[in-house]
Amino acid sequence: MASARPLQVLVAGGGIATLELLLALRAAAGPAVAVTVLSPAAELVHRPEAVGEPFGRVPRRYDLAEIVAGLGGRLRPGALRSVDPDAREVVLADGHRLGYETLVVAVGTRTAQAVPGATSFRPGGTGDTADVVREIEDGRASRVAFVAPAGAWALPAYELALHTAGRVHEAGVRTPGAVSLVTAEPAPLAVLRGAASDAVARRLEAAGVVVYAGREVTTWTDGTLTLGPDATTVPADRVVALPVPTGPGVEGLPMRAGFVRVDERFAVPGAPGVFAIGDAADYPVKQGGLATQEADVVASTLARQAGADVPERPFRARVRAVLWTGAAALYLSADLDDGEPVASDAAERAPWWPPEKVAGAHLAPFLLDVDEVGVERAVARADERRAHPATGALLATPDREGILPLDREA
Ligand SMILES: Cc1cc2nc3c(=O)[nH]c(=O)nc-3n(C[C@H](O)[C@H](O)[C@H](O)COP(=O)(O)OP(=O)(O)OC[C@H]3O[C@@H](n4cnc5c(N)ncnc54)[C@H](O)[C@@H]3O)c2cc1C
Repeated sequence: MASARPLQVLVAGGGIATLELLLALRAAAGPAVAVTVLSPAAELVHRPEAVGEPFGRVPRRYDLAEIVAGLGGRLRPGALRSVDPDAREVVLADGHRLGYETLVVAVGTRTAQAVPGATSFRPGGTGDTADVVREIEDGRASRVAFVAPAGAWALPAYELALHTAGRVHEAGVRTPGAVSLVTAEPAPLAVLRGAASDAVARRLEAAGVVVYAGREVTTWTDGTLTLGPDATTVPADRVVALPVPTGPGVEGLPMRAGFVRVDERFAVPGAPGVFAIGDAADYPVKQGGLATQEADVVASTLARQAGADVPERPFRARVRAVLWTGAAALYLSADLDDGEPVASDAAERAPWWPPEKVAGAHLAPFLLDVDEVGVERAVARADERRAHPATGALLATPDREGILPLDREA
């Protein structure tokens, strides 16, 4: 199937999109593709699980070098600074230049503080949020507001508010408005407008969380939040805000508002051989599951370029999200068209398997296997799934479409 010399793929970034790309490329093209991963970080931290950290749940972490090597790739420590598309070279933060045949930019976002003076919820630094939760629980503070600014994947704010409301209730605190939530979205999780958004709103109401939707924080002074556009005031002696995502700003590539511009197959216009996926790309919704779907699209393009006999995979954005609440989880899904929801759904039973927060067709079962049997055997199991689709771990449930492995999806 493949030409003699493998297609050389340089991937900048060592996160969720990259790992799905590696797995999908291995499944579709095997040795016809040779991958080098450029990453400043030696670990892959499962950031979506950071919302559980202030409540005692430790996010999973993985040794990136071991996984990349296990999948037949090479990890090159370093950070991408800029791209020279004419020379087909990247420039690293330390000034080194590397040539590329194909480049996939998957460097994620940068973030900025949303509310001056507030606790910023940062995966890897959630201790401050845990302190706030304890203060509300033991009465050292009486009202906390969680803030989801425009542009952020807002789900963590709803999860933090629901968890905190549960803890506050257990602690016997009955202060009205002890937990509130300010979101720039017109309704809770409006990105999944319809049944999913309605279900999240009901959960928040049942937990006693006071919601201020369609509003942004103007100021926080003397224990009062002032919200635009209508100058609503909210008493809050503690504020925890998700950061505002800002684009990675890769010099040399066309950007829109700091994010790398892409076409419908995640190729970067005007930069031959360059693709961008995940949070770094300018697709309007930034979410891990979507990042994996973008990776799968690019993997199919590259596998075909490398000579593999696989179909060109279209991008059909389907958000799958698990809302952790501190009690029973809620499984939310929506089909998107150009970033806008066309239909959404909520269920208390997982409609996809494994019921992972980041619902990547290759990534979700792989990481579970790594947890269970280690990298080497997880890679063997991934290869087995490819060879024997019937043993694939990701199966559709009888009542609805689930996630299917790449080779079984229509
Ligand atoms: C608190 C929180 C909760 C979330 N919850 C969910 C959820 O429940 N479900 C879900 O699907 N998504 C969730 N998300 C979103 C999800 O984490 C992101 O959409 C996803 O991680 C994007 O994947 P990525 O590979 O594009 O970026 P990342 O996973 O952020 O990876 C970027 C990688 O690039 C590396 N890097 C950075 N700069 C450079 C550089 N200059 N050169 C080379 N490498 C670089 C980083 O070290 C990192 O390895 C959540 C996010 C947060 C913050």
